[in-house]
Amino acid sequence: MSAKSSYRGRLAPTPSGSLHIGHALTFARAWERARQAGGALVLRVEDLDAPRCRPEFVSGIIEDLRWLGIDWDEGPDCGGPFAPYEQSRRLPLYLDAWRRLNAAGHIYPSAHSRRDVERALSAPHEGEEGPVFPAQLRPESFERVEEPGAVNWRIRLPYGRVVRFRDALAGDCEFVAGRDFGDFLVWRKDGWPSYELAVVADDAAMGVSEVVRGADLLLSTARQILLYEALGWAPPLFCHCPLVRDAQGRRLAKRAAGLSIAELRARGLSAGELLAMATQWHG
Ligand code: GLU
Repeated sequence: MSAKSSYRGRLAPTPSGSLHIGHALTFARAWERARQAGGALVLRVEDLDAPRCRPEFVSGIIEDLRWLGIDWDEGPDCGGPFAPYEQSRRLPLYLDAWRRLNAAGHIYPSAHSRRDVERALSAPHEGEEGPVFPAQLRPESFERVEEPGAVNWRIRLPYGRVVRFRDALAGDCEFVAGRDFGDFLVWRKDGWPSYELAVVADDAAMGVSEVVRGADLLLSTARQILLYEALGWAPPLFCHCPLVRDAQGRRLAKRAAGLSIAELRARGLSAGELLAMATQWHG
């Protein structure tokens, strides 16, 4: 399928579990927006968190997406001009982004907060945000280097800066650096970028024009906008979909019992019925 417009969207699942009805709705929306715009859709596998990601989840996700009637133009299964489409194979690109931030003096080595570091490989979903990093913990000076080495790196954010963006679904959004989020990890001492850096480097490199994802990543969008700015790149447009919640109002987790696409399909639900059910659950 060739793209007739400049719209480029992406599906960016993390293969650390099976997809549930919440994912179905977000991915269906991403597909719909790309197709309505006559654009292209990229499938990118976000498998940076190696211990949690498994190949069988990748094949399960591809199967679920196909069953939902979602197709894509580029991806690990069909290739494309921006291959590879698995984050675990895109380290050189992330290193380039690190070098760019380093050369412009936007990042600093930081030994603080092991918990942050552990969690930095995954997108921080609702309830997973840590405390704001205090500016006092920034180093006063540090030795300039050309490679990240075995050190964690944070971005130095303009605390007090208001980040505003207009979201296609969530409307006008506003967050303040240093109040709603702080200096975040861009690089881990084990040699891998954080989720935030990898996603920005990939979306920019793959020419993504609109990011469609769950509303629990709105705060990450504010972070990523500042990262785009530091890198000197233009951010894409954003469309954050309402979350699907369970009867207790909680966001559905990856292994939401009985609500995985595979289980519902096995129970005989059609793709249309599943999407209708997910729509009713919007929180
Ligand atoms: N891979 C991320 C997740 O599953 C989504 C990241 C994004 O859409 O930016 O949570």
